[in-house]
Amino acid sequence: MRLSRLPLNTFKEVPAEAEVISHQLMLRAGLIRRLASGLFTWMPLGLRVMRKVETVVREEMDRAGALELLMPAVQPAELWQESGRWDVYGDLLLRIQDRHARDFCFGPTHEEVITDIARRELKSYRQLPVNYYQIQTKFRDEIRPRFGVMRAREFLMKDAYSFHLNQECLERTYRAMADAYARIFSRLELTYRTVDAHGGEIGGARSQEFHVLADSGEDAIAYCDADGYAANLELAPAPRPAAPRPAPGREMTTVETPAKRSIADVCALLKQRPEQCVKTLMVAAEDGGLIALLLRGDHELNTVKAETVPGVKTPLTLASPEEIKAATGCEPGFIGPVGLDMPMAGDYSALALSDFTCGANQIDRHYQGVNWDRDLPTPEGFDLRNVVAGDASPLDGGALSIARGIEVGHIFQLGDKYSHSMSATVLDQQGQQVAPLMGCYGIGVSRIVAAAIEQNHDAKGIIWPAPLSPFQVVLVELNPKAVPEVTEIVADLYAKLVNAGIEVLIDDRDARPGVKFADAELLGIPHRVTVGERGLREGQVEYCERRSGSQDKLAVDDVVSFLRQRINQ
Ligand code: ATP
Ligand code: MG
Repeated sequence: MRLSRLPLNTFKEVPAEAEVISHQLMLRAGLIRRLASGLFTWMPLGLRVMRKVETVVREEMDRAGALELLMPAVQPAELWQESGRWDVYGDLLLRIQDRHARDFCFGPTHEEVITDIARRELKSYRQLPVNYYQIQTKFRDEIRPRFGVMRAREFLMKDAYSFHLNQECLERTYRAMADAYARIFSRLELTYRTVDAHGGEIGGARSQEFHVLADSGEDAIAYCDADGYAANLELAPAPRPAAPRPAPGREMTTVETPAKRSIADVCALLKQRPEQCVKTLMVAAEDGGLIALLLRGDHELNTVKAETVPGVKTPLTLASPEEIKAATGCEPGFIGPVGLDMPMAGDYSALALSDFTCGANQIDRHYQGVNWDRDLPTPEGFDLRNVVAGDASPLDGGALSIARGIEVGHIFQLGDKYSHSMSATVLDQQGQQVAPLMGCYGIGVSRIVAAAIEQNHDAKGIIWPAPLSPFQVVLVELNPKAVPEVTEIVADLYAKLVNAGIEVLIDDRDARPGVKFADAELLGIPHRVTVGERGLREGQVEYCERRSGSQDKLAVDDVVSFLRQRINQ
């Protein structure tokens, strides 16, 4: 490809709307352009990268025996009503109507459509197992589209769905998909972790996510290298305090805490640590009232765990300041469990405290020296908090660490949720109609492009892992109009490289060398060859490796063999 023929607009300024580096670099390098919130055009160079991801994904899915098909993006509402998800999927689902006022949605995922295929096409256990996949555009009306293509509304996903007669067979395919995913992320040269995950609204039993590790990741991962435990923070169980609760040592007293609403402010005033405080969060209950959730002051509420407390409404909804005031007569910031007339659930760590500090349900006041059983009844205990670094691993092999990750893949064992609700059956060996078990397996193809940049960049721009780079080599022609010989050598080199099967981008634009070098660095192509008049006088060109920045002089005749070796090493 010739850059002189590609309307490439790169820029130096960091775009104001882009929070994370991958979004900034994708805009600056002209890989994507924004159309509207969460909607992006993949420009020619960006699309080449996404196609590389697709190719690796497709090769590994094919190798694992999955069968590619392509389902419609638009899906009739009836299928979603049958599965029961039309009402529960919520605002993420883009609902549309056709000219006959019939309801449809733009598919955020395809369990319903594939189950409809299965109930029509699969008749007998002899046809099982089968694993269908597609690489296709999804739409999710995300509440906060952000980070560019990382959390877009329209995005490209690889989704696969498998059907099985029994659990053992499902587990075999599930493991095969986990292995295929590991190969895909290794081939793409990404640093990733496989973690136990929460199934979300999709339902089902076993589920794992694949996370590309990056500080900008929206997910937190708890892991222990010593015993191999790794889970999404949403799921990681917190250790129960082992030691018995110490006996009360103080009287309960009221302290004035004027305008001190946060744990940090109260602790600063009272010269104590957040670990000695109990904080009270109020959430909506199923019966229309509120439920108080009690946590140690230094701990964070885990919303997935909180939704499992009996009576708590899902999705978890925090009470508004008005609702808190109406229920307690007091303002947020001074709420506490003593004398609180409301159902309560306590995190085990909060219930292990004695002589703790909490809000007094009076404005500008807190209690100190509070003790369970003595000053208030001990509420029922639950695991409600996020684990923190240093907590014991659930496998007991050591302490947990926390890392941030970008979810790029997710595999589930769905069981018979969809085959049952949508009446998909096959005949088993005994001639009985049975609902097949299902697995489903997703990869965020477009998200991977951004995730790769999060892991591979420097101050000058992108540094593509070789398998993702839009081109393998950028051939920079200095001052193309000045010396015809330079243009001839470049054309000859280009032809030879292409014949050797190497993907080359020629920068033959009429631009200053500084501009060309800056763009080459921003675009992140692994290998750069610069051809200029001065070097050619000695029969030489300059080679530069993007990642290390190391430079070499090469004889013109050696360029093809040198690059071939570099690319294949
Ligand atoms: P998330 O938790 O990030 O919202 P999810 O768990 O809802 O994702 P899945 O239903 O598991 O997503 O979809 C499979 C894959 O599709 C995800 O692992 C992710 O890589 C990708 N994906 C999901 N939502 C988006 C999005 N809004 N933009 C880009 N990729 C996405
Ligand atoms: Mg997921």
